[in-house]
Amino acid sequence: MAAGGDVNMSASRLLIVDDEADFAAFVSRVATECGYESVAVADAGAVPDHLVSWCPDLIILDLQMPGTDGIQLLRELARTAAKVKVLLASGVDERVLDTARQLGTEAGLEIVGALLKPVRAVALRRQLEAAKMQDSPIEPVDVDRAVGQKELNLHYQPRLDGKLGRVIGAETLVRWVHPSRGMLLPAQFIPVLEGSRAIDALTDWVLDTALRQAGLWRRNGCCFDISVNVSARNLHDLDLPDRIANLCDSHGVPPKTLTIELTETATMQDAGCIMDVLTRLRLKGFGLAIDDFGTGYSSLVQLRRLPFSEVKIDKSFVSDMLTSKDSAVIVRTIIAMARNLGIEPAAEGVENKITARELVKQGCHIMQGYWISRPLPAEDFQAFIDGYVPTP
Ligand code: C2E
Ligand code: CA
Ligand code: CA
Repeated sequence: MAAGGDVNMSASRLLIVDDEADFAAFVSRVATECGYESVAVADAGAVPDHLVSWCPDLIILDLQMPGTDGIQLLRELARTAAKVKVLLASGVDERVLDTARQLGTEAGLEIVGALLKPVRAVALRRQLEAAKMQDSPIEPVDVDRAVGQKELNLHYQPRLDGKLGRVIGAETLVRWVHPSRGMLLPAQFIPVLEGSRAIDALTDWVLDTALRQAGLWRRNGCCFDISVNVSARNLHDLDLPDRIANLCDSHGVPPKTLTIELTETATMQDAGCIMDVLTRLRLKGFGLAIDDFGTGYSSLVQLRRLPFSEVKIDKSFVSDMLTSKDSAVIVRTIIAMARNLGIEPAAEGVENKITARELVKQGCHIMQGYWISRPLPAEDFQAFIDGYVPTP
């Protein structure tokens, strides 16, 4: 069944793989509005032929179809190294979508998003537009303009002390509402910025904004700790510790309530300079967290060599520690090791209550994840705290 508007040689091509005719027609309509040419197939078996004969830029794929399932098709796309972006859709639940997304990404596919059915036109339009815009690279120089135009904003993901049953802080995560691309997640623009000095401008903006917000909350009687992500490139700047100390001072935020998060890969580069900057950060009283712990190449060496105060166990281990024996062992071992080294363990990717309870039982009290809350804009964070009822 061919659908969509006039044939336009420059339009992006969308292949709709779904057995529900109504849904396919709805997607086709929205896609046309977004400048796509679209074709719908009800049978996953028809996809390989269409890939060869029609060369779509994007596939929207229903994970459940008669005769086959979306996961099988994802595996097939990965096997043939198909150069096509994939947007997932499913009526099952968000967790299934997240897992499928992870499976696809790990298999080397470009999964651009996931939609839970019933899908609203506005959400679909946003995803289709974002997928289209990803084809052209983002200019690193855009940061100053973005700040000027107020396109950047921070979301705050609550951090819970599971033992006390109290939200003790937030991790700040940057978002970019791009004028033509819509909402961009960090993975879509941080790597581009890291190639130039633009990353310094971004980090300075993030630190200033997060500390101003923390100062504001403090003056309103809410004393939250704040964690900020910093890139490897930022650590080549020997003035960074003094700049952060000055920002804390001017916003009235005690240094011990700010934690700088770094990925392991960041700490592996240019050891001398990084060690200097990190040690001075610690001496000034800031916390220092090693992020995504367990996914890098020399985790243990980094932990011994550098003055970390917190270890963040990567969400890939935490989110399946109840179902994977290996993940459970890794989580338990990292917690025990951190405790023995006098470093605070923290878990990210806590998606249910049982995981939270298990972590507390094992001695990991600090946690964040969708079970507690998704990252929230500042106003919603405050409302979340006001309405938060501790769950034992
Ligand atoms: P991260 O530091 O590991 O941040 C956590 C990411 O996990 C966030 O994605 C968050 O939305 C997501 N997440 C939180 N809870 C859960 C959960 O329960 N389950 C699952 N599956 N995911 C969860 P986000 O916001 O897309 O950030 C991605 C990465 O971008 C961050 O990973 C961080 O490394 C980087 N990043 C974010 N903000 C900044 C920044 O201001 N500067 C720098 N340099 N990097 C940043
Ligand atoms: Ca982080
Ligand atoms: Ca992390």
